[in-house]
Amino acid sequence: MSAFLKSVSKLTLLAALAMTVPSWAQEAPKISEEPLELTIHFHFRDKYVYTQDWPVEQKAAELTNIHVRNVASLATTSSRDAFNLLIASGNLPDIVGGDASGGLKDDFIRYGLEGAFVPLNDLIEEHAPNLKAFFDSHPAIRASISGPDGNLYYIPYVPDGKFSRGWFIRQDWLDKLGLDQPETPEEVYEVLKAFRDQDPNGNGQKDEVPYFARDVVDAVRLINLWDARVSGSERYGDFATYDGEVRHPWAEENYKIGMSNIAQWYKEGLIDKEIITRGSRSREFLLGNNLGGMMHDWFASTATYNDALRPTIEGFNFIPMLPPKTVSGDRFEDARRQQVQPAGWAISVTNEHPIETIKYFDFWFSEQGRIMSNFGVEGLTYDMVDGKPQFKQELLTNGEPVNAQLWAVGAQVPRGYWMDYEYERQWTNQIALDGIAKYEACDCLKEEFLGVALNAEEKAIYDRYWPSLLTYMTEMQQTWLLGAQDVDAGWDAYKQRLAEMGYDQVIEVMNTAYARQYGAAAQ
Ligand code: CA
Repeated sequence: MSAFLKSVSKLTLLAALAMTVPSWAQEAPKISEEPLELTIHFHFRDKYVYTQDWPVEQKAAELTNIHVRNVASLATTSSRDAFNLLIASGNLPDIVGGDASGGLKDDFIRYGLEGAFVPLNDLIEEHAPNLKAFFDSHPAIRASISGPDGNLYYIPYVPDGKFSRGWFIRQDWLDKLGLDQPETPEEVYEVLKAFRDQDPNGNGQKDEVPYFARDVVDAVRLINLWDARVSGSERYGDFATYDGEVRHPWAEENYKIGMSNIAQWYKEGLIDKEIITRGSRSREFLLGNNLGGMMHDWFASTATYNDALRPTIEGFNFIPMLPPKTVSGDRFEDARRQQVQPAGWAISVTNEHPIETIKYFDFWFSEQGRIMSNFGVEGLTYDMVDGKPQFKQELLTNGEPVNAQLWAVGAQVPRGYWMDYEYERQWTNQIALDGIAKYEACDCLKEEFLGVALNAEEKAIYDRYWPSLLTYMTEMQQTWLLGAQDVDAGWDAYKQRLAEMGYDQVIEVMNTAYARQYGAAAQ
């Protein structure tokens, strides 16, 4: 045998051996020769703290030699309070992270600019190839979380998947009444009227609730039919962009028309009388009692009502349908997953190991770290099947919520990581997946407003005017929907009040910041 062939066969043998261990095992050199301990303050979802005891974190420590040690206290039941107390104490651990009501993005940036957190741009460029590759391929996300000085001050939790909510309708009711899925505002009106009047649940009573919702954001979702936006992002009441300009959807002419129409529908009993107040259990109640006809809500969780109710409600078929066309003939979906969350982690200025820390952050954006942050630990929560992580059957079928099981091992927690939608697809039912596929094919999702980082002067103007403006607009929205004031009669006074309350000033600083932040990325 020639030396060449010998070396080939040796390589083949090595390759065969290598295949018996996970392919990434050789790719993850330890970040530190000696075990390195880093302190972390990480309070999240108002009731959890980061812990080195998570199997996912133990595996990460084994692979990287970075051992994090949590210093956040579980004594507080507010992640916001925990973060604020930490900052006020001035005694920062090596890493600060988590989530909080209102989001932590503005805090990371604000305290970063004030010197509490390390700017990350150079560290990423020099020491974090996975983070660099991620941000290079997602310039809008990078722009959206950069400070007004162009620096990144935290590594975010990045969701995956585009679709969050869609339209659902009782297809079996449509079939029973000989109706097609509504395609225009007029047809939606006719369908809701038929649901109201023609006893599709067949109990002889006029008890159907044609349109209903769980969240306030979906209570007014029908305004989409008049080309009005509910929000520019998944966050209720957010700004939106119109041809590159930031405005607020609730100050637009189409909004007046939309609100005026749905107020009329509400008055006619086509919209749940309790739509504002019924709250989070409206699906259980209105679907479970065979009363609700149409709604707009999350694909995955809403589709599961078919599994739950088909055994008891004959013919029950509550399925996603495409957004109906608008009065102008457009067709769009207004809700989408946030592309980046105001959660994640940052490096404190007192951290003596910023390079090791950014490498540790980078690990979670590596192929292996991404699998672990999404799926947990191989052999425990998932197995590799044909080179891809597949949840263990037991985890999917034991009746416990999949999310909760993953949180318990340290996966799907809001560290700086990149979600992989595949993790969720594996426990999303076929009805939801079919609906999502329809929306995918429709390609009618609105662009998301990704937010802006205001500088100190802009923020002062925003803080002076915006909270009371948003409160006023929200109050008026409900006042109009519930019929306490006529929309058309009140609109001019509403617009005047917005002007008096500083609407134009807020829009001006939003657009200044928007141009600064996205000018380059948008090109
Ligand atoms: Ca009935």
